[in-house]
Amino acid sequence: MYMSRFDRISLGHFPTPLERLDNLTARLGGPEIWIKRDDCTGLATGGNKTRKLEFLVAEALRWGADTIVTHGATQSNHVRQTAAAACRTGLGCHALLERRVTNMGDLYDETGNVLLDDVFGCSYEFRPEGLDMNAEGQAAADALAERGRKPYFVPGGGSNPVGALGYVGCADELVRQLDLDGLRIDAIVHATGSAGTQAGLLAGLHAMSVDLPVIGVSVRAPAERQRANVHRLAEATADHLGVRGDLPRERVLVDDTQVGEGYGQPTDEMVDAMQLLAREEGILLDPVYSGKGFAGLVAMIRRGEFTKGQRVVFVHTGGSAALFAYPHLFSDKTAAKAA
Ligand SMILES: *Cc1c(COP(=O)(O)O)cnc(C)c1O
Repeated sequence: MYMSRFDRISLGHFPTPLERLDNLTARLGGPEIWIKRDDCTGLATGGNKTRKLEFLVAEALRWGADTIVTHGATQSNHVRQTAAAACRTGLGCHALLERRVTNMGDLYDETGNVLLDDVFGCSYEFRPEGLDMNAEGQAAADALAERGRKPYFVPGGGSNPVGALGYVGCADELVRQLDLDGLRIDAIVHATGSAGTQAGLLAGLHAMSVDLPVIGVSVRAPAERQRANVHRLAEATADHLGVRGDLPRERVLVDDTQVGEGYGQPTDEMVDAMQLLAREEGILLDPVYSGKGFAGLVAMIRRGEFTKGQRVVFVHTGGSAALFAYPHLFSDKTAAKAA
């Protein structure tokens, strides 16, 4: 795909493995299930933001920035990976953490990803839920600029046409792996939040004229809103790539059956899916994103939406560092103490 025409630095371990999940496939009795291990990107416990940051931080360096400013929810995987990327490249990192989840107990604001933000020396301030966080982040960047710093602002989740190039690259990488193994697949499934992952995958597949369904399992927005968000960013990313031809809205598939009570709020299906993948395959998911994404795939299989002869790839977007902020869901001991 000639991605090297775009500025990029190396932050992760690529290509990430593409693995067949034999135990899980046998257990569910449906399609052959494969997993693209983007939880193994290598940067600060891994995850999908690493691919985006390879392009975003390259742009920050090109612009002569000395500090990255970004934002996310309290347990943001994006902020954690951005903080690590800033360390690697000698930049400062300042983050705004939105209190989107306030009912998970005392440890929630200190452990998991927040603890790792501290380890990386990232400065952060909290914000209440419901503000325009991109505007807040831009204002924080402007305030730093007034004090003589050179901030580079990364939007939530690193989701703009530059960050989404990371998932254009992932689409290319996945198609190469399929070609190498002589594999034909029927669908790609993953968790979708700030939309950059799905938008990048769709723009990349579109550029290669590959018509595979990419199903985003929403962790927050209702399906129609998420489809609009993904479609807008996929088109902007395709423009940035210089791809000709429309990317039809029908290509954007979103399943919103796993949101439950909202962003970061656990569901029984998520807990079951996390235990299923852990106990069948020894692979960790997370309660906010990949656990719900995977629960979405399990539900599709149980509803009979894939047949036995088909093959599905789940893109594991990472996130297990957030697991430690939700101990009561998985440990009877912790649940008893919290009660
Ligand atoms: C950010 C994130 C996602 C969602 O990806 P988007 O590009 O924001 O849609 C999925 N899984 C994990 C673990 C994440 O941190």
